[in-house]
Amino acid sequence: MCNCLDEITKKLTVRANEKLDWDNISGDFENSAINIKKLTIRLYSQFKITGEKKNTKGKIIQKSHRENIFYTYCPFCGCEYEPTKT
Ligand SMILES: [Zn+2]
Repeated sequence: MCNCLDEITKKLTVRANEKLDWDNISGDFENSAINIKKLTIRLYSQFKITGEKKNTKGKIIQKSHRENIFYTYCPFCGCEYEPTKT
């Protein structure tokens, strides 16, 4: 398991502190989630699905749904997040 997310978070926070005249700057990846079983943090992308559906009155309404697609490999270094057992 790599440490890219922590390292990049620190670098971006330092850079934000240099560029912005704000106080108490912090940052975090919005598209990350923790794997409860393994206590690891992985990145993901959201896939948005849209469509139409008739409601009970027969009127067509817009529907949307999001699916989270978790990455198997770190997009920064290529390390496998949770190596498969051999
Ligand atoms: Zn990495």
